[in-house]
Amino acid sequence: MNNAIIELQEVSKIYQNNPLAGVQSVSLSIPEGLVTVISGESGSGKSTLLKLISGLMSPDSGVVLYKNGPVMGPESRLIPGHDAMKTVAQDFNLNIYARVYDNIAGLLSNTNLKEKQQKTFEVMEFLKIDHLAQKRAVDLSGGEQQRVAIARAIITGPEVLLLDEPFSQVDSILKNELRADIKRMSRYLGITAILVSHDPLDGLSLADKMIVLKDGEVLEEGAPSDLYNAPGCLYTAQLLSNCNVLSSEDARELDIYTGKDTVAVYAEWVRLNRNDDSLTFTVKDCFFKGFYEEVLLERNGVKLRAINTGNFRYVKGQEVGVSIDRFVEF
Ligand code: ADP
Ligand code: MG
Repeated sequence: MNNAIIELQEVSKIYQNNPLAGVQSVSLSIPEGLVTVISGESGSGKSTLLKLISGLMSPDSGVVLYKNGPVMGPESRLIPGHDAMKTVAQDFNLNIYARVYDNIAGLLSNTNLKEKQQKTFEVMEFLKIDHLAQKRAVDLSGGEQQRVAIARAIITGPEVLLLDEPFSQVDSILKNELRADIKRMSRYLGITAILVSHDPLDGLSLADKMIVLKDGEVLEEGAPSDLYNAPGCLYTAQLLSNCNVLSSEDARELDIYTGKDTVAVYAEWVRLNRNDDSLTFTVKDCFFKGFYEEVLLERNGVKLRAINTGNFRYVKGQEVGVSIDRFVEF
């Protein structure tokens, strides 16, 4: 992993009027030039954490370091926020009655008008919004506004781009495109991107590093594939995979008990064998999901969710052999 550009050491921030909220004793590092995704449920402290990182809010205790120097809070600066960092807030913060071009160009100085124009078009092209230059922001779709907000953030050449829930306003097709653009931007411009999202799937496909936040605390961090395949806690497994959670008795019934209290079995780790009597389950329900079928199974009170990607369709009441390819224990 690349060197850390930002480091948080034991950072806490508790809201006066809401003592149970905020973030507690967060220590983490953000690798330079890569995409870090902070994932957690709504209210877990993601927006608070972004504000603390960029200096828009001061911690009660602990330190935030940018390139080994302290990030100053809003009390100590004329314009709040670290100069090298730009945030795209959840509400985009656009001048909605101004044209797209002016929204973006307005952040550059007028000393060299030709350069200003060139740079603005460069950024608009990069984000594929150059054809919208003359439109007013208010007349754009949510996804287009999102891109204008990102263009505004990167036009001044920040080293760190912070994005608060960047996908909340876009539908799933645009979401994939925007994910790819954020990755491209980070790679091409060398920007360090920090993105927070309540949807863990955003992190899986986009992050170089993923951080799981719960109730204001960092639970674990790592490469998305490591967190997915070898989660350190049940919360992460559930957040990333909607897995089967089995008690020790359930695990005994399935012959995978090794002494731990809880066993997580991802749906894709449940292997269905039509012509095999390994462990016989009954199909309780099937749901068509497009390219796969979700199959709910039961055996002596143990319920399992499995997926079937084959051409064969299961039917309710059918008996099916099951073997567990993998499981993780906690
Ligand atoms: P997230 O972005 O993950 O949804 P936030 O950082 O916005 O979470 O909020 C974390 C917790 O802090 C929530 O319980 C929220 O209600 C509370 N909170 C956020 N901002 C304030 C504030 N200005 N005053 C009091 N409580 C706040
Ligand atoms: Mg938030």
